[in-house]
Amino acid sequence: MPHTPSSPDLARSPVSELTLEPVRAALTQPRADAFAQLGPAFLTRLPATPLPAPYVAGFSTEVAALLGLDPALAQAPGFAEFFCGNTTREWPASALPYASVYSGHQFGVWAGQLGDGRALSLGELAHDGQRHELQLKGAGRTPYSRMGDGRAVLRSSIREFLGSEALHHLGIPTTRALCLIGSDQTVWRETQESTAVLTRVAPSFVRFGHFEHFAANDLPHALRSLADHAIARFYPHCAAADDPYLALLEAIVQVTAVLLAQWQSVGFCHGVMNTDNLSLLGLTLDYGPFGLMDGFDAGFICNHSDTQGRYAYRMQPQVAYWNLFRLAQAFLPLLGMSYPAVQRRERAVADAQAVLEGFRVRFTDALAARMQAKLGLETTQPGDAALVERLLDIMQASHADFTLTFRHLSRITRAAPVEASADAPVRDLFVDRAACDAWLGAYRARLASETRDDAARAQAMNQVNPRYVLRNHLAQTAISRAQEKDFSEIERLAAVLRRPFDEQPEHAAYAALPPVWAATLSVSCSS
Ligand code: AMP
Ligand code: MG
Repeated sequence: MPHTPSSPDLARSPVSELTLEPVRAALTQPRADAFAQLGPAFLTRLPATPLPAPYVAGFSTEVAALLGLDPALAQAPGFAEFFCGNTTREWPASALPYASVYSGHQFGVWAGQLGDGRALSLGELAHDGQRHELQLKGAGRTPYSRMGDGRAVLRSSIREFLGSEALHHLGIPTTRALCLIGSDQTVWRETQESTAVLTRVAPSFVRFGHFEHFAANDLPHALRSLADHAIARFYPHCAAADDPYLALLEAIVQVTAVLLAQWQSVGFCHGVMNTDNLSLLGLTLDYGPFGLMDGFDAGFICNHSDTQGRYAYRMQPQVAYWNLFRLAQAFLPLLGMSYPAVQRRERAVADAQAVLEGFRVRFTDALAARMQAKLGLETTQPGDAALVERLLDIMQASHADFTLTFRHLSRITRAAPVEASADAPVRDLFVDRAACDAWLGAYRARLASETRDDAARAQAMNQVNPRYVLRNHLAQTAISRAQEKDFSEIERLAAVLRRPFDEQPEHAAYAALPPVWAATLSVSCSS
């Protein structure tokens, strides 16, 4: 049998001979239907700002493979220079990286023009029939930087590197991260911090705010070009609909609803759900002060700067709806074209409202399905929603650990155990043991009408309730070590989080309740 290496160009080369040239060539190749081809109303091309003495602080072999890159590339000479953007000064002018323009609502207020103030897209790589855009976050100032310095700090870049990969492995749609390039260059945030450039990867980085930008500036042709791009590249089924733009809006509503159900089901808080941080594709996008809850608190606010709690955990679904409402407003100039002109506006509004209503249904159904799976229930019954609600109530009252409560539920047997201590893994997470026992009684009564045996149910539950999540303190440990130039914890943690549903007994410490010092950690939105 002839052996066919997956990346024939690179796979057989010794590391010292690996070159980034084929990567540059692929990225700078013009592609007719790429975002970059939309033209100058959408973006500005410019090279990255040079970063002194860059070094590799993190690398995902898995994302490399996704892109068809040889994992050994990370050791190739020039890798760090390439992925902090230092070589882009030599790229042809027509194929320079680009920053895109968008606008948005931030914290409920129209913020006007924003844009990629510190992100530069390098272009796209195609592999295995998929196309991926590569974007450098923290690559220097752009025309959209406003007062910012165009940089990202190592701390927040590590959080995005680990967070995005961890969410991916939980099965949650997200941008990915190829590599993290560090530098000794510092910038001022609340204190002096070293900078980094993260290479993030996604089919598209288009945000709700892109649509808002062209609607607010009364540029209907550009708005239409953007929507046509979105349909052609990502939602081709919409092209055949009676109203393709309404179908596009509906598709975005649906993927956003599913995303929110997924966030809620793992206790993920985004932290800055502004319309410029919500993705056309329903991806988790722009990791800032995000956080996964330890002890359950529906009012959990992960962003220290969000004093009003606008983006608290329990608010996220309705904020998503609010953002979709803004998106729908931006879509209005495109909608209702088949109606008589005098009726167009009114009927377009009615259509958009009907599509928006789909959010509630889809979100509720998707979350209910997730919770059903988390409780290991194969059937649905009228009391299930109340059972879930009651569990969340007692978790809230006891501040029970979100991840471990669900994980340990798989150990609950359908029959009441002879020794009450068998329930200890769950009970011990509750201050109010009596409330826990009462709920476990109701849960067992519910399990009585299920046919699956304990072992099969436990196995299924352990595939939806992770044992390992990126707890804030785990990220903080990796950050503290990296700030001392030890990047090994980033790699170790990333490896554990790549298999969040596996027991991994050798890594049990990563699944433990947070240490006392974690209670004082606060995450500001400065990044
Ligand atoms: P974010 O809160 O990170 O989603 O950013 C909101 C807006 O501010 C976007 O337009 C960013 O590009 C821009 N921005 C954030 N930080 C910086 C920075 N350090 N330099 C330039 N622009 C930034
Ligand atoms: Mg943003």
